[in-house]
Amino acid sequence: MNNKDRKFGGRLIDIVLITTIVTLTVLAIIFTIANNESNYQNVSANNEIGKQTNPVNSVFPDISSSVTQEIVTTSINGVQIVKETLKDPIKSYSIQYIKTNSETVNAEIKKYISDSKSQYENIIRLKNTVEEHDITSNLVNKLNITVELYPHQKQYVSVVFTKNITLQSNNTDTTIHTLLFNKETGKTIDLEQILNGDGKSLISISEKVRSSILKNKTYQNHVYSDTLTKLTESKWNNFERFSIKNNSLVFYFNKGEIANSSIGVTTATVSLSTIYPLLIKEFQAGIKDGTVITNPPPKADSTNKKVALTFDDGPHPTITMEILDLLDKYDAKATFFLVGNRVEEYADVVIDTVERGHEIGNHTWSHAKLTNISPKQVLDQLKQTNIAIKNVTGQYPTVFRPPYGAKNQEVISLINLPVVMWTIDTLDWKYRDASKLLPSVKESMHNNAIILMHDIHQSTADGLESVLKYLKEQGYEFVTVSELSQYK
Ligand code: ZN
Repeated sequence: MNNKDRKFGGRLIDIVLITTIVTLTVLAIIFTIANNESNYQNVSANNEIGKQTNPVNSVFPDISSSVTQEIVTTSINGVQIVKETLKDPIKSYSIQYIKTNSETVNAEIKKYISDSKSQYENIIRLKNTVEEHDITSNLVNKLNITVELYPHQKQYVSVVFTKNITLQSNNTDTTIHTLLFNKETGKTIDLEQILNGDGKSLISISEKVRSSILKNKTYQNHVYSDTLTKLTESKWNNFERFSIKNNSLVFYFNKGEIANSSIGVTTATVSLSTIYPLLIKEFQAGIKDGTVITNPPPKADSTNKKVALTFDDGPHPTITMEILDLLDKYDAKATFFLVGNRVEEYADVVIDTVERGHEIGNHTWSHAKLTNISPKQVLDQLKQTNIAIKNVTGQYPTVFRPPYGAKNQEVISLINLPVVMWTIDTLDWKYRDASKLLPSVKESMHNNAIILMHDIHQSTADGLESVLKYLKEQGYEFVTVSELSQYK
């Protein structure tokens, strides 16, 4: 190496050092900016004003995220439920999964959960809801995964995941994922193992599943029989989704898979005692001799299933009262969006509503379409109603819903209450038919649903009990919109 080269080498080191310092500085600045921006995103989301932000495509998507996690023990030894929530203006989720002592099981579950999250984000990207999304609306996209556990004998646990993806539209896509594992060995078990790999046994199961679906009265006239035939052909991968529940094999089909979506998830039940000879020894134990060992099945974590019933356009002197009585009967709390100019006239009804523990919302003074009036008129509509409610009940309303769901950025910037839309529209105002209320709820039901109804139609009061009864049976707790976790 001559002198010149040495000099050049020294310079090269200088250049490398300077470049590194500059790069690090630039990175630090970028990071600071991104961090500030994400703070801004959170603040604007909370204040319900501010510009459209796009965390999905953000360089640091997780900085704006506020994931909360809670771990709950279950009645099954060694199995915990993890509840994870992300509040986000675009891609909110609320998911449950389990943690066990088995690495195999945990890994499989982890994969399912992370696949579900990326599937959800991809759908949001594809549907382009990001552009149209209005962060000030409460009608956000939602991924919801709940988990149910069913112990069988001492060592087996069935895990059933129900996944709901709700985009801003009212369509909820519901799919099921299951897993059966042995706590003692830490291994998962599929149907092929339970039936000892016997193809003849599978044919028998396939026939039983098919006939169980066809005989089910609820599914009648709703089943796509060609699809059913195809999806119950005796192939092992047609029978991947199952659980063992109350000494029966339960097979699951996704919403809309083999029957009309209005049916929701479709199940077929095959009692273990009817297929006793087909089962491997471990599964025969306890079935034949009638000394079945059952842990009491845990409640389907019903404490976590919530629904917010909402009633617009009242108060009404008789119909609201009937609804209040029904709600009491089912220990249900609801939210009433009142039209201001009716409040004083039916003050007794409004007071009764508050005293029975329901939430009161503002639904404008005269049921005005806010997108058609001036900012001053919007403010008057809100203020007059707030004052009327305060005068009668002593408290201001806590939430707001625009009549006809009509809102835009300008209108929303004028409203200083949480704007609550809905996720299920019963169309009760259109049908005016009590018998149509329950089917319209069933069709789109999902956890944390906000159901839109009107307490000025007799048909709504007449059909409400069937809805309350059904949702109660499904394990839902009836809460006010503010009690739904997403608004906390
Ligand atoms: Zn209305």
